[in-house]
Amino acid sequence: MAEDKKIFPITKPVLDKKEVELVEKCLNSGWVTQGPMTQKFEQAVAKRHQVEYALAVTSCTAALHLSTLALGLKPGDEVIVPAFTWITSANCVEYAGAKVVFVDVKEDTFNLDPKDFEAKITPCTRAVVVVHLFGLAAEMKEILEIANRYSIKVIEDCACAIGTTYNKKPVGGLGNIGCFSFHPRKVITTGEGGMITTNDPELARKTGSLRNHGASGNPGPKEGPAKPYIMGEFDNLGFNYRLSDIQAAVGLAQMDKLENLLDERASIAMKYMNLLSGLDGIILPPYSGICGHTYQSYVIRLAGKNKGKRNKVMEILAENGIQTRPGTHAVHRLGYYTKKYGIKPNDFPVACNSEDSTITLPIYHGMTQEDQDYITEILKRGL
Ligand SMILES: *Cc1c(COP(=O)(O)O)cnc(C)c1O
Repeated sequence: MAEDKKIFPITKPVLDKKEVELVEKCLNSGWVTQGPMTQKFEQAVAKRHQVEYALAVTSCTAALHLSTLALGLKPGDEVIVPAFTWITSANCVEYAGAKVVFVDVKEDTFNLDPKDFEAKITPCTRAVVVVHLFGLAAEMKEILEIANRYSIKVIEDCACAIGTTYNKKPVGGLGNIGCFSFHPRKVITTGEGGMITTNDPELARKTGSLRNHGASGNPGPKEGPAKPYIMGEFDNLGFNYRLSDIQAAVGLAQMDKLENLLDERASIAMKYMNLLSGLDGIILPPYSGICGHTYQSYVIRLAGKNKGKRNKVMEILAENGIQTRPGTHAVHRLGYYTKKYGIKPNDFPVACNSEDSTITLPIYHGMTQEDQDYITEILKRGL
């Protein structure tokens, strides 16, 4: 019988006794939603990202949805979104009935090009969704300067960016509101889960109410014990986007692991850089600079003499047990956006080329030098 082939996953969650212990504690307490675990998880994220408010929700998509509503986006408003990202960075604008205006990304960072951003601003532009794609911080100084000049609100899509900094300042509190994901493809996970971060008390109040059916008027903890007859007010159409305490317990344990996981990812990224940097026709993600990187995804681009070889390389890697994916989508080419906005497939050429020429290589906890030697060896066979 053939030997079982070793599988090299793109990533894998790191869950152990610590998560089990806290989940058990939560279950034993009987308080399984929006209780002490959620509060502690929110405090841990607020502290790490140096923001006044952190609100746990069911996903980053929920966080983005509530952000567009809390910012008051509505039909007739335009919101700028990079064309190369996960679809929900754009969908959240549609949820609010506003119009998505795509801009192309930069070839070297896959992030929003500040110049293209400014060029797409019209009198209807109300907000921009800035994505720190794959965990690499976007060029916030330039972007914030433009946004301020035109009074445009800034939503940071930090789905991939827990722990990332821009110029040593954590992301998530640089714009008006930040949105994090704890999906298993991200650096830390709660299964499904998300977090809203902000320094704006009004946005915190609005998103806090919207995640809880639009409720308001409940006495806060400082106002003494709740009166049994007080039911709260419901002046806005809200949702149930509350994260459970069971998931928050997992999140809290994950926050304890965050620094080690980030260090490990950076060290694996550095090894890839050493193994691949001499090769012609492979463009690697930036390693250091003002824009921090979590390497949530380690995405390389095939160019020059390797242009057009991407699919063949991915097939060879797959045959050898090495899981890969394209970086992400050129969102404007997805059916919903093509149909709704009549965008041509060749618009936003950098986004298109990024979807077609990128490969996300495995980075996971416990990855060895041997694993990386093997992966790069197989990769080279396809070039
Ligand atoms: C994963 C991801 C999201 C969505 O996060 P969910 O928690 O799955 O809703 C949004 N934006 C980007 C850039 C992502 O990578």
